[in-house]
This record gives sequence, C-alpha cells and structure tokens, in this order.
Amino acid sequence: MSHLIAVLASCLLLLAPLTRAEGPLFPPGVRATADGLMAAALDDALALELVTSLSTEIGPRLAGTAQEARARDWAVDQLKKLGFSNVRVEPFAVPLWVRGDERAEILEPFPQPLAVTALGGSTATDPEGVAGDVVAFSSLAALEAAPDGSLAGRIVFVDEPMTRTQDGSGYGVAVGKRRATAYEAERLGAVGALIRSVGTDSHRFPHTGQMRRLTEDGGAGGVPTAALSAPDADQLRRVLARADQVSVRLVLTPQLLPPSRSGNVVAEIPGREAPEEVVLAGAHLDAWDLGTGAVDDGAGVAIVVAAARLLKALPEPPRRTVRVVLFGAEEVGLVGAKAYAEQHAAELEQHVIAAESDFGAGRIWRFDTAVGQSALPTTAAIRAVLHPLGIGPGSNSARGGPDLTYLREAGVPVVGLIQNGWDYFDLHHTPDDTLDKIEPAALAQNVAAYAAFLYLAAEVETDFRK
Ligand SMILES: [Zn+2]
Repeated sequence: MSHLIAVLASCLLLLAPLTRAEGPLFPPGVRATADGLMAAALDDALALELVTSLSTEIGPRLAGTAQEARARDWAVDQLKKLGFSNVRVEPFAVPLWVRGDERAEILEPFPQPLAVTALGGSTATDPEGVAGDVVAFSSLAALEAAPDGSLAGRIVFVDEPMTRTQDGSGYGVAVGKRRATAYEAERLGAVGALIRSVGTDSHRFPHTGQMRRLTEDGGAGGVPTAALSAPDADQLRRVLARADQVSVRLVLTPQLLPPSRSGNVVAEIPGREAPEEVVLAGAHLDAWDLGTGAVDDGAGVAIVVAAARLLKALPEPPRRTVRVVLFGAEEVGLVGAKAYAEQHAAELEQHVIAAESDFGAGRIWRFDTAVGQSALPTTAAIRAVLHPLGIGPGSNSARGGPDLTYLREAGVPVVGLIQNGWDYFDLHHTPDDTLDKIEPAALAQNVAAYAAFLYLAAEVETDFRK
C-alpha cells in the first residue's frame, strides 16, 4: 500500500507543474459547457448551410454594389431568424469601382492572348487599350530603384513570385507589388503595368485584389494595371528571354463611379452580468467579383455566426456580450473596419477581446494572442481547452484579422485562431473561390474552436488588456 501511495504521490508531483503551466482551470461547469459546445459544433450543419446559402443565393458581392446590399439583407434576415438580439446595419460610404473589359495580348514577336484581370482600383485604358514594349523587373524593389521617367511609353512587368506557407506569411511580402506597381510605373512614365498574380497556384486564373487605397476624393491614380495568371507570367518571361523586344497590348475599362453605400451588419447575444463588455467575433461580408466568395469570406461569416448561435442556445447567456460583426467593404481597403472603429470609438474600452475569421476554411492549428501579461494564464487555459481540436500554442503577437486592425491599434486585445492556409492562395481572389473548396469537417472544426473561445472569453472575468 505504501508503495502505491508513493507512486501516486510522485505522479501528483509530476502532474502539478503541468497543471500550473496550463493556467488556472475553469470551474468544472464552465469547462463542461465549453467541451459541450465543441462537441455540438462538430455535429452541427449550420455553418455549411450558411456558406452554401450566401455563396449560392448572393454569390459575388463587391463593396458598394447592389450585390453587397443584397448580402446585408441576407445577413440581417439570417441573424434575426437565428434569434440574435440588436440585429442592425451600420451604414457608411464607400468608393465604387467596377470591372470592365480586361484583356491582354502579346503583339510581337509571338502574337497570342494573355490571361489577365484588373487590379481593384485600377485606372482604365482607352477602349482600344495601350500598347508598348515590356520591361520586366524581378521584384518590386527593383522597380522602385528605377529612375523617374526612365520607361516612357513602356509597359512594366513585375515578375515577383509568392512563397507558399502554412500561415500565409508569403502573402504579406508578395502583396507589396499589387499595392505599389501602378504608382511606381506612373512615376517611371510607363503607360500600363502587369504583375505576376499574388497567388500560389499554377492555374490560368489571374488573382485580383486591391491596389493602394483610393484617395478620399475617390481618385485612384497610377497607370492601368492588371495581374497575369502564373502560367501567363511564365509565358511572358519565356518570350522575353527569346526576344530583344516584346510588345504587349493591354485593354482595361473599369470605372470609378460616384461613392456608394455599404454597411457593417451587427448582431448580439447580450451578456447576463456585464452586457457593456463586448467579445467581438468578426468576418467580412463583401467578396471580390470574380468568384462566389465562398472561401473569402463566406466561410468566415458562416463560422462566426454558427459559433455564436451555439452560445445562443445555452440555457443562459455568457456573462459578457458576444457581438458578431460582419464587416462591409473589407476587400477595397478595410472601409468597414475603419467605419466600425470610428462609430464605436466611445465603447472600444469595453471591447474586451476580438477575433476575426478571414483566412478561408482550413483547420485551425494554432492559437495566437495579443493580450496583457497577466491575461496569459487565461489564454493558456483557453488554448488547453482547444487542444483536443488539434490546436497548439502560438505567439502573443497576434494581428487578429484585417478588420480588427483599427481596434488592435486602439488597444483592443485580439486573438488569432490560425487556419492552415497552405492552399488558400491557390484560389484567393480568383473565379476558383467557390463552395466546393470547403471541406465540411474542417469548417466544423473552426466553428468548434470559435464557439469554445467566444464562450470562455465571455464567461471569465479576466481583463485581457492587463
Ligand atoms: Zn478576406
């Protein structure tokens, strides 16, 4: 017997530091509720129904268009039907840019078409297009180093590749050329510009995406600029290697229309003890016009709404308010995010923590935080609850999603439920962003993680700022 006790005692001694390292345990009932939410989520079809409905009944929903307005109506309708409180649209103005014709062709020496799409915010060419000799740069940095006025009448081609990574970090590097090429090409005197798509696939779909944000007066500036699909960028590179002079024609006829309306759709589960304290779950409702916006960001909309709906079904609401925010006009420059931060400036102090799902529907594998030191034991304990979902520890330098940028800058703590983005940039901002790319089991795992996180963050008394 004494031997057994000694063995048990040594086991307890071994376990004790592990328990402490995982942070304070939640009360048994709270832990059981979180576990129950995760189990329910893995068996819940709501997220898949929502993203199917949004991507089928609305489809593309570019910011400021009638399609995006229909998406807001759809969201209000769904959130009311699901029983959320305080469902509302918070409107704001947005620049309206719409795509026109877009085509490119090699004129000399090997005439043939190239697959292109205009970058969001691009200026237009004449209907007949612009033509010029192509000057290639291996990177944005090389383009930036070229002297002013040195490429009069030419067409710039920035052939910088993007690195595929699980966490999507290759995007942050590669997106620079999408933002800046039009303006750098203008500085050099070029008449148009092409970039290799910001993407990781080898399909013949070019990737659109916003250039630098439009100015306050709605102006865009820069030369007409399009993305080439990766194989077309490869093709142009080969042609350039075989000829001293390569001329290309580029036709882009997008239009910048008078400013339009957009809005953020907000819904709540009012907290039972501290309703003024807000735990925010975000995603964005708008989507680029080429696909149906199933992955970016229909999946995120479905994940946060379905997760919050599970909390709504609990016998009593969590202590703090859980607020779902479906941001408008994310893709065209975080316009909805800025409007939300401005419209809610007076209550941002009461935003206790925020998370956004905007990286597709891949499985969550890491839990990042950006919280105060004294809150780390609580986030470690939340992470331990998420562990059975295959989620490991991350850093305490989370960025929290694009629509949380202004909130984070205003001091709101954020977390990142980091999804596997290995394949995300194969289809990002292309016609391939469609429902079939979503794996239902992975979507459900996301809902489970969000449900447990939102519940625990709203139930604890932790001040995540400290
Ligand atoms: Zn997105």
